[in-house]
Amino acid sequence: TQAARLERLARLPLRDNLRGLKPYGAPQLDAPVLLNVNENTHGVPSDARRAIMRAVERSLTELNRYPDREFTELRESLARYLGHGLSADNIWAANGSNEVLQQILQAFGGPARTVLSFPPTYSMYPLLASGTNTEYLSGERASDFSLSAVSAAEQVAAAAPQLVILCSPNNPTGTALDLEVVRAVYQASEAAQSIVIVDEAYAEFAHPGTPSALTLLPGRERLIVSRTMSKAFALAGARLGYLAAAPEVTDALRLVRLPYHLSALTQATAVAALEHSESLQANVEDIKRQRDRIVDGLRALGLQPAPSDANFVFFSGVQNPGKIWQGLLDAGVLIRDVGIPGSLRVTAGTEQETTAFLENMERLLAAEG
Ligand code: PMP
Repeated sequence: TQAARLERLARLPLRDNLRGLKPYGAPQLDAPVLLNVNENTHGVPSDARRAIMRAVERSLTELNRYPDREFTELRESLARYLGHGLSADNIWAANGSNEVLQQILQAFGGPARTVLSFPPTYSMYPLLASGTNTEYLSGERASDFSLSAVSAAEQVAAAAPQLVILCSPNNPTGTALDLEVVRAVYQASEAAQSIVIVDEAYAEFAHPGTPSALTLLPGRERLIVSRTMSKAFALAGARLGYLAAAPEVTDALRLVRLPYHLSALTQATAVAALEHSESLQANVEDIKRQRDRIVDGLRALGLQPAPSDANFVFFSGVQNPGKIWQGLLDAGVLIRDVGIPGSLRVTAGTEQETTAFLENMERLLAAEG
């Protein structure tokens, strides 16, 4: 039984700060419409899929050899994709941006060190902190979950952490940070010389005119902008996250990475996908349309969706989130209860999936009366 298993786990010589923790993960339930973990619901376009197949097949002839430990071609492709005058020396990658973040914490965090972030935010941050024995400090947001430059800077100056993680667009709320916040946080961390990470996993879905923290990199050698191919590139299954930073930051990460951590198959897949970023971009545009439909639709139903620059929408004003969540699941639509009272989060689907979500929401809210 589960209880016996937990008891046996408790008898193992587990590290103290891992005792009682639960592994991260949304429930992996099977439903026809999966809108719970902010995946790209549009899949990999067929031209990109064919290119990936060919690239992976080519890589098979050398699968007996270790892959390029420095993944040079991939770093060059990622630098080209990001633009902003970046070169391969500015780029680092790993198996998902979760691993990128873990490597940053391995290099700059650790015992007697702290990482400050601002909940509600990505729930992996505290787990990555405990996994690397780094103390996690919870900063505060305004009651509408916004974070002002003044407040963020004050909190960073007071905490003097070794690391700060800003998530923009923020998960689970979906809203992008004003770059003023990043500038102010960087300045406030001057005394402590903190590493400042901006997690831009959802950057490609931002509204036009939302600048990326990539624009702030010149002259800021403690700033790291983290990205992923899991969302805009629809490659969650391939596991490729990356970052842009000063070359010395990537040198710090070389000290903690496992040798050959990016498989030849991963490198081939990512390079081929980057060559087809245009057809992937077309899907991003449709996802943004569906995201805006969700915001408008939920508002019309009397709920309060947060402004979203991501491929998901966080909405409040739900009287009974658990019941709505279950009602949607009974209708085959799985969304996410992120544990914030009166609120739920939904990923933008295909047009059909989005319609299924909105129609069921209307029906369930009407039934609530
Ligand atoms: N950062 C944020 C804010 C996320 O929401 C996610 C995925 N849910 C990640 C990082 C990690 O994504 P991946 O490891 O697939 O790159």
